[in-house]
Amino acid sequence: MFETLSDRLTSVFSSLRGKGRLSEEDINATAREIRLALLEADVALPVVREFISRIKERARGEEVSKALNPAQQVIKIVNEELVEILGGETRQVRFAKNPPTVIMLAGLQGAGKTTLAGKLAKWLSADRNTPLLVAADLQRPNAVTQLQVVGERAGTPVFAPEPGNGVGDPVEVARASVEHARRNNHNVVIIDTAGRLGVDTEMMQQAADIRDAVSPDEILFVVDAMIGQDAVNTAQAFLDGVGYDAVALTKLDGDARGGAALSIRHITGRPIMFASTGEKLEDFDLFHPDRMASRILD
Ligand code: GDP
Repeated sequence: MFETLSDRLTSVFSSLRGKGRLSEEDINATAREIRLALLEADVALPVVREFISRIKERARGEEVSKALNPAQQVIKIVNEELVEILGGETRQVRFAKNPPTVIMLAGLQGAGKTTLAGKLAKWLSADRNTPLLVAADLQRPNAVTQLQVVGERAGTPVFAPEPGNGVGDPVEVARASVEHARRNNHNVVIIDTAGRLGVDTEMMQQAADIRDAVSPDEILFVVDAMIGQDAVNTAQAFLDGVGYDAVALTKLDGDARGGAALSIRHITGRPIMFASTGEKLEDFDLFHPDRMASRILD
């Protein structure tokens, strides 16, 4: 995860080692190198600009600390600014006062929504929740079956249209699932919605209709981190078309660069809530900005 960015930053810092004090020239040269590292990591330009201007400002203004040498001071500043750009605090799930808490997943096909639904169910169950998975992706023929397989592995029941009832209406399925959860003591409902390979208005409308029918407590935008800046564009399209409360980043295990993770919060104003780091149901947790920053600078 983020190896390329990590390596680049490490080499930037190593060139500062041994310096007694940082000149204006040193600060500018370091900022230039960090800028290149971020651009190479596919971080969105406005984010790079903001990041660099804050680093420069702080490096110039930083009080001389006896405890830290200049290289350590720059690392400290970069670390703090990385935490900030990644969202600062860990975003926790907001549970509804009156259960069930409704969590809706939206995103492109292949983003990892169905897998994430299972991961989330398992993660919630470990904390004594009683989730219900809902198959509201009725676009792909085997999406329901796929969710059932995931549900089985997560040990979570799946609410799906009755076989033989035709394709079914995803909005009705979503609505009925909340009723079903209420009657059967499921305190969380996780709704998997349909995605397409690209953003299209019909898909957006369907997600918006489901949203309007069930008023989710949390809408999560699920996005593949490996697509870099494209993730930012898709994130913007979903923000305009459906709206969401937080982001779930998937496939971080295959993301050497980190551009999506570092850009999405700043560009959308929505925090990253979950990180998915593999195909197994256990490869999943809340996204912790501070741990992620340490990992980048490790
Ligand atoms: P959906 O179309 O959005 O429901 O996406 P799926 O859940 O079907 O996931 C698409 C593919 O990505 C599947 O092959 C998953 O196994 C894989 N996948 C999902 N999440 C992760 C992840 O965090 N890491 C890796 N390496 N693969 C993932």
